[in-house]
Amino acid sequence: MERLYLDHNATSPPWPETLTALADAFAGPHGNAASQHAFGRKVRRLLEAARDELIACFGGETSAHRSDRLIFTSGATEANNLAIFGLAGDRPGRLVTSPYEHPSVREPLDELGRRGWEVVRLRGDPSGRIDPAELDAILAAGDCRLVSLQTANHETGILQPLAEAAAVALARGVPFHTDATQAAGKLPLNFRELRLTALSFSGHKLQGPLGIGGLLLSAEATLRPLLVGGFQQGGLRAGTEPTPLVLGLAAAVRKWHAERDLHAEHLRTLRDGFEARLKAAVPGLTIHGEHSPRLPQTSNVAFPGVDRQPLLAALDLAGVACSTGSACASGSNEPSPVLSAMGLSPAALRGALRFSFGPLTSPADAALAAARVLECVARLSGR
Ligand code: PMP
Repeated sequence: MERLYLDHNATSPPWPETLTALADAFAGPHGNAASQHAFGRKVRRLLEAARDELIACFGGETSAHRSDRLIFTSGATEANNLAIFGLAGDRPGRLVTSPYEHPSVREPLDELGRRGWEVVRLRGDPSGRIDPAELDAILAAGDCRLVSLQTANHETGILQPLAEAAAVALARGVPFHTDATQAAGKLPLNFRELRLTALSFSGHKLQGPLGIGGLLLSAEATLRPLLVGGFQQGGLRAGTEPTPLVLGLAAAVRKWHAERDLHAEHLRTLRDGFEARLKAAVPGLTIHGEHSPRLPQTSNVAFPGVDRQPLLAALDLAGVACSTGSACASGSNEPSPVLSAMGLSPAALRGALRFSFGPLTSPADAALAAARVLECVARLSGR
């Protein structure tokens, strides 16, 4: 049986270009980018060229006197922790966020809440989007240290009104961080145009290597490091930079940057076709976020009268890999905090599964997956 992988939001297989870049980089030149000899200098040049290229792909500025900075991390969890603990300031104040954030944003904020900061969560509603006017009213009250708002949701793909929210924060003089992990690559993101303070992303969500991500940081921002013990990366993240992973990451982002429209269109077509097949066959099926702007690769579907855990297991046996939500929360059968925050009914939460497509998923695979899903749903709902 051919297994079909529809869980690209959990992790995505690398592009062939990523694998080539990794193989070339691990083959040499060899050296520590911090070493003061020819080996080190050569690696440093490769590393800094890749860093500049990545900054430019995300719309940052690399001009000598006002360069934005890109701090390489182990992934988006670390980048989000670094942004939140690093930008929240030394004294407690307010932190504003959405109710839809990934645990790697939510839990650092909760931790600051326990240390005396006030964490304000914007209202959720069935659109899955925050209201920039509500954000403005909260920031108008003053004493706000940071806004952290995801670019796109990991479970539903719903896009936040990022440009409007960032403009509100800018007008109120409050630093603004976005977790762009699911959107990076698939959507054009222009760091300078959006006037962001910080943006997190992760290699393995965009056909790059696992084990590397980054925090893009504006030239003006003051950040307190999480890791100390070395002067690497301007003292903002101690530890030897993993140059081969950086080169693999640059190859992946370069490909998305050059071919974005093509892949986004392919993903949208796959997703829409998949959803249309399911909708035509299952009366009462709900697609969460269907009427909101969404990422092209994500489909969150609730099947009436079916529980998501047995459906997930049946699909795994039938050779379809998908998920009940964030892989970071898998194993728990708690209702999804994202869908709960949208105020959806318990029935709509019970049967919800996330299917996420990749640029190398074929239309035939998507059609076969839909057929297998329909078989499993029919069996489990006794139809
Ligand atoms: N933010 C979002 C929106 C995510 O989907 C994920 C991965 N599930 C992360 C952060 C964490 O990324 P990483 O696996 O690179 O730590």
